[in-house]
Amino acid sequence: MKFKRFAEYLERIEQTPSRLKMTSVLAELFGEATADEIDQMVYLALGRLRPKYESVEFNLAEKMMFRVMAEAYQVEPAKVKQAFKKTGDLGGAVEELPHFAKASRGTAKDLSVAEVYQRLMDVAADEGVGSQERKVNHMANLIRDLDSLSAKYVLRIPVKKLRLGFSDMTVLDGLSWMEAGDKSLRPQLERAFNVSADIGGIAERFKKGGLAGVAGVKVKVAVPIRTAQAERLPNEKAVVEKLKVFAVEGKYDGLRVQIHVDKSPDSKRKIQSDLFGESKKFVEIFSRNLDNMTHMFPDIVAAADKLKVKTAILDGEAVAFEPKTGKSLPFQETVTRKRKHGVKNKAKEMPLKVIIYDLLYLNGTTLIEKPFKERRKQLEKVLGRNGKTDGLELAEQEIVSEPERLNQLLKKYLKEGLEGVMCKKLTTAYQAGARNFNWVKLKKTSQKELADTIDCVVMGYYAGRGKRSGFGIGAFLVGVTHKSEARSTKSEIGVGSVAKIGTGLTDEQWREIRRRADKLKVKAKPEEYVVDKNLAPDVWVRPEMVVEILADEITRSPIHAFGLALRFPRLISFRDDKDVGQATTKRELERLFKLQRG
Ligand code: AMP
Repeated sequence: MKFKRFAEYLERIEQTPSRLKMTSVLAELFGEATADEIDQMVYLALGRLRPKYESVEFNLAEKMMFRVMAEAYQVEPAKVKQAFKKTGDLGGAVEELPHFAKASRGTAKDLSVAEVYQRLMDVAADEGVGSQERKVNHMANLIRDLDSLSAKYVLRIPVKKLRLGFSDMTVLDGLSWMEAGDKSLRPQLERAFNVSADIGGIAERFKKGGLAGVAGVKVKVAVPIRTAQAERLPNEKAVVEKLKVFAVEGKYDGLRVQIHVDKSPDSKRKIQSDLFGESKKFVEIFSRNLDNMTHMFPDIVAAADKLKVKTAILDGEAVAFEPKTGKSLPFQETVTRKRKHGVKNKAKEMPLKVIIYDLLYLNGTTLIEKPFKERRKQLEKVLGRNGKTDGLELAEQEIVSEPERLNQLLKKYLKEGLEGVMCKKLTTAYQAGARNFNWVKLKKTSQKELADTIDCVVMGYYAGRGKRSGFGIGAFLVGVTHKSEARSTKSEIGVGSVAKIGTGLTDEQWREIRRRADKLKVKAKPEEYVVDKNLAPDVWVRPEMVVEILADEITRSPIHAFGLALRFPRLISFRDDKDVGQATTKRELERLFKLQRG
């Protein structure tokens, strides 16, 4: 397909206000694509070159992109900046540049999607001395070779601003629609995506081999598996009734990490551990959001490299600890290890250990279909007799079938400072991408408080009054998510308000939330928000910030979106490791509401 045609599709997607329509346009696009180019189209339409977890970066800041445009269109960089200021968008700036229309008419070359993709890949891959200059030149040449509509979209990609408003899940819907004319194939496609989160790869397989093609999708090292999640039950008795005989582990409050190791001789991929300066065999670390965190955790890379395996995928929780005492640190401290700069020093100051609780792949064989009991047995072998390999520790575990014993263990772990316990069925497979009763979390021994914290989306804030006028923020509005079935909105995930929080934050937290919220500020209420007009905040923010909220209870509410509200809500932490898709859902909130009433 010519890139120009592809850009026309992108324009149609951008202009449609309805998700259903967007899905059908995607289906049309996929229908027209060949099997060789569909993966490239999927990545590009999502504003990337490769799946998110591969973190292929352009390293071209907005400022450099002004130069790209200036060079491409032979105008002063100041003019580009001006055009950018007017539209707030590099793509939009194209239309503002006076010389542009003339210049592009003469130079556009009608490139194919594959050609544009390859040239963008070359720009991203260029590194080392002088690469910034070369990147600018190559990008400028590319833009010069494109018509204005194509340029508009291509310019947004290096700065991650394509934002057509859909995610991997809509791509799956689009694929289903292409084949069946509706979303009926989404479950099968999603099953494949759960075990192998390469969205472009799934599209290619589906295009080539239909449902049979995606049914054959296997777990692969270096491609993350979507993580399993836990359900909740009200108390020890309910857990025993539901799970009968189960494993009990501590619930560690750190960062979920999925560690992929490939030490097989044919592994060509090597990465440099910059903490230890040696060349390592291939190790990659993914977050629960499928982000690549490998470069942030050289200590985990080094630890995983010591494992005596050919290939493996481990699931666990990274927890920072105090080097002198060995004492585990709370989540708020652990999360400071997620950083781009000063990685080395931070790793020394605040080392990590990973509590490993599952093994999903070993020496060329997938284990996810095996019962937990069996996976655990293999995991014990991998981690050795005492369950420890520098930096990696086997999660302690006990098999339980009595509420009394569960209660004792819960108390023990709470006393040790953990969040609670995880109860796991012994006979079930690893349910990639699912939250169900194979895993049940239990955090409190009494029913007087709410059984769990709620991961809320920050929707906006109110100007500060009184004592807090100095911070410019007096309260903020948070919500939980629900699958937006509304055909008229573009977003897949709706957010409905559940609490206005105006107390209980430290000065530092107020400043922090204001700073973060201002980065996400939008002019008007996002269309996927459900908020009573009497609750409308002074400043709306895009649904991207997830905060962990503790409340005394959930009460009925005449004003909040789903008829439920949080009573005495307080901010526990900023959950940078979760995205909106992982925030608490309306369904979970309703379940918690029922749980607390017993
Ligand atoms: P939540 O995020 O509250 O739904 O709880 C599920 C999370 O608990 C998982 O995503 C893990 O990051 C974390 N977790 C801590 N300890 C364990 C454990 N022993 N087994 C499984 N998950 C655990």
